[in-house]
Amino acid sequence: MNIDVLIVGGGPAGVIAATVLAGRGRDVLVIDNGKSRFGHGELLSPLGAALLNNIDNRLFDPANHLCTSRLLSDWGESRTIVAMTNPHNNRSAWHLDRRSFDLGIERVALLKGAQFKRGERLKSSVRCHHRGIWEVELTDGSAYTSRLLLDATGQNCSVARHNGGQRIVLDRMVATTAVLGTSSGECEFRIQSRPDGWWFATMIPGQKVVACFLTDAHYLPVGASERRRFWLQQLEAAPKIREYATLTETFEIKSTPAGSGYLESAIGDGWLAIGDAALSVDPLASAGLANSIRTSRMAALAADAVLAGEHRLLGAYQRYTRRMAENSEITRRAYYAMEQRWSSSFWMERHGARRLNVEVGIG
Ligand SMILES: Cc1cc2nc3c(=O)[nH]c(=O)nc-3n(C[C@H](O)[C@H](O)[C@H](O)COP(=O)(O)OP(=O)(O)OC[C@H]3O[C@@H](n4cnc5c(N)ncnc54)[C@H](O)[C@@H]3O)c2cc1C
Repeated sequence: MNIDVLIVGGGPAGVIAATVLAGRGRDVLVIDNGKSRFGHGELLSPLGAALLNNIDNRLFDPANHLCTSRLLSDWGESRTIVAMTNPHNNRSAWHLDRRSFDLGIERVALLKGAQFKRGERLKSSVRCHHRGIWEVELTDGSAYTSRLLLDATGQNCSVARHNGGQRIVLDRMVATTAVLGTSSGECEFRIQSRPDGWWFATMIPGQKVVACFLTDAHYLPVGASERRRFWLQQLEAAPKIREYATLTETFEIKSTPAGSGYLESAIGDGWLAIGDAALSVDPLASAGLANSIRTSRMAALAADAVLAGEHRLLGAYQRYTRRMAENSEITRRAYYAMEQRWSSSFWMERHGARRLNVEVGIG
């Protein structure tokens, strides 16, 4: 079967790109390995909500999510900021119900005509240079020819890496997350730094709190019970988080890579990388989703132009993602510089001057 674009990865980036491309009349198939995904207690920034609204105002329904009423921060100094109390102003951050968010964006992509195969991966992909197409086979045995591939596989960036793409790794942070209860009636976002990393706790719909400790991979003990003990010790030492989140009998701790990094080039021969596959940013900035929406929209427009025989937007897309990576790194350093109380390698590494490779204009 012939299609225009095969999108590998059905997270927010893949689905938004599918929405844009299908909306422009392109034949799009999204495949996703269907590994159980769960939200990280993401906040959708006002920018993210506005970007979705600009693409299609059915993509984000605020009624299904919560709006921050209070931000408590113990970062550099201990303080409480009362913020963002009005859900109707454009400064509100949204505490996502990820299931509802994911279903909502997929529904719009389907309405536009995108196709989805969940539980599938690429079995093989061969670039036929003379025909300018990909011949791909999926794990269910189905075969396609596609003119372009979009890599939306998150931090794995597996399509790009398989085709020679190089990921620049800025840190190896890992998020250890649990969904807990709360007795608070207040929708808050709390953040607290610790000598070996930092915590956030955020309310999500259903009167639950996502509590997450972020540290570098080498701080985490090996083995589930050791890791659980470590996590509980860290929680005990973080009163702002502990006060807000209530341990439940059956809570589970999940570990996810949360490192910052970017692809040396977000474009290659017949492929483009989008979302976290192109660049992943520190969760501290709450900017990953907005970045995913921006890169997936821009890459979809570049892909649409390539399919029409116009290649100039590819270079612009590469420059755009590189500039985003540079700006994110500046923001990351500025945020970590605000906390000077700790001297472990976690903080020293983030306070040290890191130089981005600033070569631009590839492609
Ligand atoms: C702890 C934490 C907190 C965060 N908090 C925020 C926040 O507050 N605000 C914010 O905006 N962002 C936040 N983020 C970032 C945000 O979650 C990501 O930027 C966003 O999910 C990226 O979307 P994506 O579609 O690019 O990648 P993903 O969401 O990672 O989706 C990738 C998809 O591809 C699939 N896949 C992977 N490999 C393959 C393969 N080989 N074949 C087929 N399918 C594959 C995966 O199963 C997945 O479904 C946070 C991240 C973390 C880790």
